[in-house]
Amino acid sequence: MYDLIIIGAGPAGLSAAIYAGRSGKKALLLEEKNYGGQIVNTPDIENYPGISHISGFEFAMELFKQAESFGAEIKYEKALSISGDDTKVVTTNKGQYEGKAVIIATGAKNRKLGLGNEDSLVGRGVSYCATCDGMFYRDKVVAVNGGGNTAVEDALFLANYCKKVYIVHRRDEFRADEKDVAKLKEKDNIELVLNCTIKEIVADEMVKGIVVVDKTTNEERQIDVNGLFIAIGQVPDNGDFENVVELENGYVKADESCYTNTPGIYVAGDCRTKEVRQLATAAADGAIAALAACANMD
Ligand code: NAP
Repeated sequence: MYDLIIIGAGPAGLSAAIYAGRSGKKALLLEEKNYGGQIVNTPDIENYPGISHISGFEFAMELFKQAESFGAEIKYEKALSISGDDTKVVTTNKGQYEGKAVIIATGAKNRKLGLGNEDSLVGRGVSYCATCDGMFYRDKVVAVNGGGNTAVEDALFLANYCKKVYIVHRRDEFRADEKDVAKLKEKDNIELVLNCTIKEIVADEMVKGIVVVDKTTNEERQIDVNGLFIAIGQVPDNGDFENVVELENGYVKADESCYTNTPGIYVAGDCRTKEVRQLATAAADGAIAALAACANMD
């Protein structure tokens, strides 16, 4: 029996594990893929208080080591359901675990464009992670789709290696931080393709180009690229828990207290209903949820 079962080992889940460990509680982290969550895909974090620059990968590694040093145990299993009243039972693809409380910290997954050949071209020119795959496109031409921090950071990162980077965004204003947008506009090898959506990915075995549609003129044109990096935000992945906690648009409904509508189940990070989804707010949620869970089990 664990004190706390934390579903998801991204920044929110790992922060929760640190706070649980420091409160003397036995915590189990259940992670479907790799620890670190979405942050491992960020080339350079420069807005986490107290750290001026760190790669997402290094940040995640340090966070994981810190959680382990406070006694957290991790199992790479997918949590499939939560049941039970006073004692919570989490069923995974490999087993069942009991805990006094559960924190859902499942983060979010990449939103897809929804184009017919998108899935089949992953690894053959379509990518959702510039830091993971950018090196394959050295001296090549790529497009990044999106207008948020991820897309703009990805474009800046790729511009260091690629011959040319197109950034395709559906509006003429970026959602990303001004400072990074200014950097984008200074780069000679980045071309902005604004007010445009991607209608088609042109490919044979590999990606050859994209067809974009100008939303103001309805004109279509093909841009020849070797790679397409899709960075159009995230969507939550909490369907497995909809019978135990209330969801709103797929996000677990909770305020800043991180309490769900079910006693003993808390939520932390990007999978929660909230205004600001940032690394700092994910870490803060992890601390709040773990301390609330620990306080309520004493
Ligand atoms: P995001 O902020 O939600 O931005 C998604 C972008 O994709 C928006 O520009 C949106 O356009 C566009 N978009 C959404 N759906 C689309 C579709 N179906 N077709 C075409 N375009 C579409 O996502 P994100 O950039 O991944 O960032 C997620 C969160 O993480 C944000 O809170 C962000 O600030 C944070 N983040 C922070 C950092 C950092 O601080 N270093 C780095 C990365 C991410 P519209 O603008 O028109 O809606």
